Amino acid sequence: MKILAIGRNYVEHIEELNNERPSEPVIFTKPDTALLKNNAPFYYPGFSQDIHHEVELVLKIGREGKNIQEKFAHKYYDQIGIGIDFTARDLQQNAKEKGLPWAIAKGFNGSAPVSGFKDITHFKDLNDITFSLFIDDNLQQKGNTALMLFSFDYIVAYLSTFFTLKKGDLIFTGTPAGVGPVRTGQKLAAYIEDEKLLECEIK
Ligand code: MG
Repeated sequence: MKILAIGRNYVEHIEELNNERPSEPVIFTKPDTALLKNNAPFYYPGFSQDIHHEVELVLKIGREGKNIQEKFAHKYYDQIGIGIDFTARDLQQNAKEKGLPWAIAKGFNGSAPVSGFKDITHFKDLNDITFSLFIDDNLQQKGNTALMLFSFDYIVAYLSTFFTLKKGDLIFTGTPAGVGPVRTGQKLAAYIEDEKLLECEIK
């Protein structure tokens, strides 16, 4: 399986990092070794002093496809979960300044904790899903899919023009405002609506 991710999909997050508003989605990938499942802890790596949390809804691909038209894109994802796109912000900032890729800053070991998934039929309106991140029981990030620049269908169609999507692939769909650093000892909890789906302790 592969992990694909969208950067800059929520306006307020773009503004907090002083990034440009993109005309097409910003794409990056994480290797399968980034994945953390079953509420596994995250071990703070020695190569960064500024790991940030980015809570994001995650789509799971249910059917292989490429060059998918946007109007058919909904047939290709069948589950939604929640994940954290851990980012080594110091390494990313350095890469941005030099025009270099984000591969290490975004794809290092354990940089993608992901929850269990809910069938898409569970959601009444995909354009009105609230999700949030708490750190040590304090609300840190809150988003709603109504605020996305690029919809799930658009993202799936767009990605499929470059990458054949396969069953089980995961797509991180972007983070809302409120990103910030994590510290050893903190406990993160991610929710879709009122349901806690993911926990991750920083070790
Ligand atoms: Mg992100």
